[in-house]
Amino acid sequence: MNAVASGPRSSPRKSVLFCAECSFQSPVSEGWLVVSDGDARTIVCPECGHVADHRTERSAPSPKRAD
Ligand SMILES: [Zn+2]
Repeated sequence: MNAVASGPRSSPRKSVLFCAECSFQSPVSEGWLVVSDGDARTIVCPECGHVADHRTERSAPSPKRAD
C-alpha cells in the first residue's frame, strides 16, 4: 500500500521517471542508470535494479537503394 499523494501537482517540467518496484523517482537524466547497447537504451533503477524503461533509438534510417 503506497500512500497516494493528495492534491494535484503542477506537472513537472522535467520528465520524472518512477520505479514501479521501489518508488524511486528522479529525472531520467539525473538519477537513473542508463545502459546503452547499440541503438537500445535501458533505464535501470539505481536502487533496486528494476528496468523502468527500455527503448530502441534508431539513428538515421538507412534507405536501401535498388542498385
Ligand atoms: Zn527501483
